[in-house]
Amino acid sequence: MDELQCPACGETENLVGRENGDLIEVTCERCDQQWDRDPHALPTCHRCDGNDMEGAVKAIVEKSRGSQLSIVATQVVYLCRICDESILASYRVGRSPLMPDQLPTQ
Ligand SMILES: [Zn+2]
Ligand SMILES: [Zn+2]
Repeated sequence: MDELQCPACGETENLVGRENGDLIEVTCERCDQQWDRDPHALPTCHRCDGNDMEGAVKAIVEKSRGSQLSIVATQVVYLCRICDESILASYRVGRSPLMPDQLPTQ
């Protein structure tokens, strides 16, 4: 496992971990992003079976009035540095949340 990194802002130093059952709840002191980390199960790519994964923040969107989509929450997902290389490359530039693969249509 390489070093812990905040999936939202890329911070690697000011991260605080707190045990929460089997999981470690990590909080980034720079941007307040919180996520859970399972110390017993590394995230694994279901396509190549590799575990060279990098966290990213994905938006959960809902359609609000009119046709505007608004971000209602974010979740941390893990992308494969091999299979998702191009997504990660563009994510690292601005670190704005990834949009869901499927947008709500109603
Ligand atoms: Zn952060
Ligand atoms: Zn992969």
